[in-house]
Amino acid sequence: MVVKIKHILLTFDIEEFDMPLEFGLKISEDEIFERSFVGTKRILELVNNKKIKSTFFITPRFASKYPELVKEISEKHEVALHGYHDHSYNYKVVERDVAFKDLKEGKEMLSKITGKEVKGFREPRLQKPPYSILKKTGFEYDSSLNPTFIPGRYNNLISNREPFSIEGVKIYPLSVTPLVRLPLFWFAFRNLGLSYGKFVTKLSLMDQDFANLVFHSWEFIDLNEFKVPLLLRRNSDVKVRNMLDKYIDWCLKKKFKFICMGEYNDIYNNSL
Ligand SMILES: [Zn+2]
Repeated sequence: MVVKIKHILLTFDIEEFDMPLEFGLKISEDEIFERSFVGTKRILELVNNKKIKSTFFITPRFASKYPELVKEISEKHEVALHGYHDHSYNYKVVERDVAFKDLKEGKEMLSKITGKEVKGFREPRLQKPPYSILKKTGFEYDSSLNPTFIPGRYNNLISNREPFSIEGVKIYPLSVTPLVRLPLFWFAFRNLGLSYGKFVTKLSLMDQDFANLVFHSWEFIDLNEFKVPLLLRRNSDVKVRNMLDKYIDWCLKKKFKFICMGEYNDIYNNSL
């Protein structure tokens, strides 16, 4: 009997810690970067200790401030692009040729730092990216789609759960369960806990051969210092680290294979 390998696409968005600004709170420019830097180091330590591979979607602003850390990440993991300049920047307010120029520069900067080709993209706040411009810039895949309903953000309940293509770019949606579309992303994982994370992973893997999940650099610092809503603060820092530590062990015990998204993209394209 051939047992089909189940893959875990564990991804991290590495970006400025701009959440306090969204809630009108004060935070210094230095702290916005410093917090995220510390969180990223903790993530890297965790995944390297576990000897697993992950994909890091990194903003150009973070990469230009910490090129050595980005280079270090790229030695064992995949580096992909997260946005245009800084995390709050929105391409929809600029001309398409400006978005193209920004994406091209961001992609080239990451390539220069890592010495590797940058194949993947994720739009900040999981908004819809400009697929035709991604294609023109040479991106092979995008992972900005969360095919569920998040009040106040997006309603993607009728979008595909399975990989598909738009304008020649392969889309790998974040994982949700079949039918009711319970999500697996950071917010649900941290608020609903490890058992929930395992449950959604198992259900997602019933009809698919990958589970795609995302966390952020700033979730690995103590968010209770900031007066943001409890649902955004809960289980940060050491708690999320412990949850993820146990989750990784559980996946490894189940013989799920941790793999970078670009690598999964190659496997997927070769299987078609
Ligand atoms: Zn982000």
